[in-house]
Parts: sequence; structure tokens; C-alpha cells
Amino acid sequence: MIHCNMPSISDSLSLYLHIPFCAAKCSYCAFNTYIHLEHLIDDFVKAMKREIEIVGAGQGVGTIFFGGGTPSLLSPEQFVTLLEAINRSFAVQPDAEISLEANPNDLNRDYLTALRRAGLNRISIGMQTANANELKLFSRRHDNDAVAKAVSAAAGAGFDNINLDLIYGFPHQTMDSWETSLQQMLLLKPEHISLYALGLEPGTAMNAWVEGGRLPAPDDDLAADMYERASEVLAEHGFEQYEISNWSLPGRECRHNLQYWLNLPYAGLGPGAHGFANGVRYSVLLSPQKYIRALREATDAYPFPYSPATENATIVSRDAEISETLIMGLRLTQRGIPRLEFARRFGVDLLDLHGGTLQRYVDYGLLNVSDERVRLTEQGRLLSNMIFRELV
Ligand code: SF4
Repeated sequence: MIHCNMPSISDSLSLYLHIPFCAAKCSYCAFNTYIHLEHLIDDFVKAMKREIEIVGAGQGVGTIFFGGGTPSLLSPEQFVTLLEAINRSFAVQPDAEISLEANPNDLNRDYLTALRRAGLNRISIGMQTANANELKLFSRRHDNDAVAKAVSAAAGAGFDNINLDLIYGFPHQTMDSWETSLQQMLLLKPEHISLYALGLEPGTAMNAWVEGGRLPAPDDDLAADMYERASEVLAEHGFEQYEISNWSLPGRECRHNLQYWLNLPYAGLGPGAHGFANGVRYSVLLSPQKYIRALREATDAYPFPYSPATENATIVSRDAEISETLIMGLRLTQRGIPRLEFARRFGVDLLDLHGGTLQRYVDYGLLNVSDERVRLTEQGRLLSNMIFRELV
């Protein structure tokens, strides 16, 4: 069933703010994030405030997401500074979803109460696994008890929209340990769940361990079985899958991430952030030090969505926007691509554009095409990358 509260095409902008600091580097992580740079956080917040003022020109904003890195390394006062700047520079909707990603170790009741007062209303906690040995393999700085305490503190502080992340398909993980992690997570009663298959990224410790033979390579077949098992378990507990890697209780889909999957505009701020707005796809320079320097002296006006920290920008052609809309929209497992909405946005029926390819995947049992929409079948969710590659 398609939720009536699933947004369709909207004009509001989303804001992604990248906080590039971490207290420790996880073994699988390839994000643009740095350890031992916490002394830069004050200057960084000033720079980000300046970037907000340059990029903001009164645009309507429906969602704000502080991601990272570890945004929970910022103090409540620093969130207040950034959110006040956002409210002065953009027209933030009264019901805006305002999220942060957090490490469980950073979360206590006082901190969370202050964040809630500052306006944050959704929190995403990196649980990753309930197994102590697996947490060590990931070089995570928290233990499983810290997750339970963090969730309880968040609920006590008034957060009623909590996401937990888990990772599956990594070396030495067994189906038993996966089921334990799922069950432990469900005991914490989150409103939203993200399950990520481990990707071995170049430059990460985990990748080096696998390449050097210290760890076995991940088992893709076992990972697919884990995914299917998780889908069953989460459905039994009332969670609805709405995206390839995301499940929620009814009405608790992540509005911010939906903006990405619907290929709608978002401004990316902070080192290494990506954005798509005003027909331009762009990224912000990676280095926190260069970012701070670029914004420290900035006084000029810049056309939206640029700032002095913009590094790469590409004007998105209509063909590219169509491809991106297809491959991101197909990630939405229930919604898929509504054909009428697609035709209104691009002036062409999806089947006239890609009918042959789509029919082939219908024949393979990987896609479902109806008068209303095109979407992946359950089997198609496991092989989505193959379909996406062909639609690019
Ligand atoms: S806390 Fe998150 S961003 Fe930081 S190193 Fe670990 S996975 Fe990467």
C-alpha cells in the first residue's frame, strides 16, 4: 500500500549539513571525516554559519539533516547557532523534519533535552551491530549498552522519531549474529530502521584487512539471505519497507532522504557535502581547514547554490535528470516511479523512453510495470544495481 503521506513533487528545499569530525575512525568508513581535528570545531561552526548566510535567500525548507562525521560532537549551543542562522536565511517550514546523526556515546538526557529544545526532532543512532566482537571489528567506540541507554535518553528527552542503523554482510558475521542484532534492535522500539550491506571501500582499514588476507571477503549470497531474513522479521514487527535499505513504522519515512530519492532539490553545506539545486549538481571542497579559510573572509554574494567553498559543479542536463530520477525513484520499493508524475515532470511517458529495457526486466521477474507505476519486485531489490546501470 502506498502511504498517502508519501510526498510527491514539491518545491521545498532540503538542507544537508556535513559535520566532518569523528572521535575515532571506524574500520569500514570512507566518508569525508577526520579524527584529531576537534580543536577546529569552533571555527568550523563560524564558517558553516557564514556558508548558510551566503546560500540562503529565503528559500522554503522542509527538511534539515546534520550528517557526518559525527554531528553529536557539536554542543547544543553550536546547534542553536547553526539553526538560528538557517532560520534567518531560509523560510523553514513549521513542521520541518530536523535530524542529526549521533554516536550513542555522546547522548545523555541533558544533551538530548537541549537538542530537542534547539528544534531537532529526529535522531539517527549508529548501532551497527549488537555483537561486542563485531563492534570491535568495526572499531566502534561504543558498546551495545550505550545504544540502549542512548535510545532511552532520546525517548525521555522527547524524541519520538528515532532511527537505528545496522550493517550486514561483513566478514565473519553469521546468520545467528545477524538475527540477534535485529532482535536486540527491535527491543529498543525505533520508529525507523536502516540496514546497510557492507561495501568494501578503498582506503578503509576493513578493505586492507580483506586484501591482505587477514579477513575473508564478504559472502554476497549470505548477505542476500540476511537481507531477506531481515525483510521478514521487520514485516512481522509492523515495519514497512519503503526503500531498498529503509523500513519505518507507518508515517515515519525519513522525509529528508525521500527528497534525494525523489530527485528533488537539496543544498549541501559543509566539507565534502553534495548538493543538487537550481539545475546544478555540485560538491563542497573536502578539507575542513580549506573550508574554514574559504568562508572566513567571504563577503561577496554568490548565485544560489554556490558559495566560496563550492568545488565542483555540473549543470544537470535533462537526460541526466531523467536517469537520476529513474534510478533513485526505483529505490522506493512501494512508490517506485509513478508514471503520471514522471510524464508531468519530463513531458514523456516512461515506457516510450525505456519500454524495451523495462520489458526485459519485467520478463526476468525483476520489475513490475502497471498503468500507475514502475517498481522493483522483491527479487529486483536484490539485483537493483544491474538494472540501475542499464538505465543510466
Ligand atoms: S562514526 Fe560514522 S562517520 Fe565517523 S568514522 Fe565511524 S562510520 Fe565514519
